[in-house]
Amino acid sequence: MEKRDYYEILGVQKNATADELKKAYRKLALKYHPDKNPGDKEAEEKFKEAAEAYDVLSDPDKRAKYDQWGHNMGPSGFGGGGGGFHAGGMSMEDIFANFGDIFGGGGFGGFGGFGSATGGARRRRQPKGSDLRIKVKLTLQEISEGVTKKLKIPRYVQCQHCSGTGAKDGTAFQTCTRCHGSGVIDHVQQTFLGPMQSTATCPECNGEGKTITQKCQYCNGEGIVRQEEVVSFSIPAGVTDGMTLSLKGKGNAARNGGINGDLLVVIEEEPHPDLIRDGNDLIYNLMLDIPTAALGGAVEIPTITGRARVKIPAGTQPGKVLRLRGKGLPSTEGYGTGDLLVNIMVYIPENLNDKEKAAIESLRDSANIKPTDSVKKRIFSKLRHIFE
Ligand SMILES: [Zn+2]
Ligand SMILES: [Zn+2]
Repeated sequence: MEKRDYYEILGVQKNATADELKKAYRKLALKYHPDKNPGDKEAEEKFKEAAEAYDVLSDPDKRAKYDQWGHNMGPSGFGGGGGGFHAGGMSMEDIFANFGDIFGGGGFGGFGGFGSATGGARRRRQPKGSDLRIKVKLTLQEISEGVTKKLKIPRYVQCQHCSGTGAKDGTAFQTCTRCHGSGVIDHVQQTFLGPMQSTATCPECNGEGKTITQKCQYCNGEGIVRQEEVVSFSIPAGVTDGMTLSLKGKGNAARNGGINGDLLVVIEEEPHPDLIRDGNDLIYNLMLDIPTAALGGAVEIPTITGRARVKIPAGTQPGKVLRLRGKGLPSTEGYGTGDLLVNIMVYIPENLNDKEKAAIESLRDSANIKPTDSVKKRIFSKLRHIFE
C-alpha cells in the first residue's frame, strides 16, 4: 500500500506550527483511541499511522528530513537503524510512552486503557525514587575554577536485608489472591460511549502480582531506609546563580529495585565583597584620588584569584572603563573567558585642612584646570550614549 503523506494523515498544512500539529494529532488520537474502538483493527492502524506521523513531524530534525526526502528516506532514512522509524515500528506501548501527555490527565486513562484493546498484559512500570534537591553555596573563586564538593546527604537507599522488596529476607511473599499474580484486574465500565472494558492496576498488590506475608523488620516493609551518605560531585567552572545540575541516580532509591531518583544541585552564588558579576565579566568600581587621576600612577585592585597592578594613565576621566582581558570568569561551555572591567571613579575630597584648601585654591584660575569646550562635548556625547 502506498504510504500516505504525514501532513495529509494529520490533516494539516505543510507549514503547520507545533501547536497545530499537536491539536490535530490529539483529535485523531482520541477518535481512533483503542478504548473507543475495542477490537477494531482499522482504527488501531489509523491510531498508529497518526502516531507515526506525529512522531516525525513533531521532531524538528525528523521533520526537516521528511520535508526534504519524503518517505523515500534520506541518507540515514526513517527506516534505518539507530533511532530510525518505519511503518508499524511503533508499538502501542511506544505510542503511550512517547505521547501519553497528549491524552491529558483525565482523558481515557492513558496507560490503563489500552491493555484491553491489545489483549496483552500490561508491563508494570518500574518505580522511580523521588528526586532530592540541595542548595550549594559557591564563592566567585570556586565558580571561576570549578570545584569538587563532598556533602553528607540524607537519602533513601535500598534496604540490604530484603534487597529492597520489603519482605522478610526478601522471600516472604505469596501470589496475590485478587489478581492471581497478573498485577491487573479487568472491569467493564458504562460510559457515554457504551460499555468499555478497561484494565486497572490491582489495588491489592499495587500491580506487583504478589503480596508480602511477613514484612522486613529493618525497613518495616518499605524496602528502603533513610541514611546519610557522602556524595561527591564536581561543579564545572562558570556556573551561575540558580543553575541546577542533575546527578543521575543520586536521589532517593525506589522500592523493589526500581530506578533511583536524581540529585538536583541548585547553585547559589555568594556575593564577592569587591567584584560584581555581569555574565562572564566582572566589574570593579575603582575610586581614584585626584592626583592619581590627573598625574597617572599605579594602583592595586582585587581580582578573583588575588590582586593585580593596574597602570593609570595621566588624565584618566571618571566614567572610563579599563578592560583587563581574561580576568573574568570562564564560560560553562569551556571556551572563552570574560574580562575584568575596571570602572573609574574619581574622589572629590570632602574635608580639607587650610593647607590643602590653599593648594587647590591656587589652581582655581589655572588654564588647564578648566574643562575645554571639546572636553565638555566629549563627556556630553558619552552620556548621551549611555542614556540612549
Ligand atoms: Zn528491608
Ligand atoms: Zn494483585
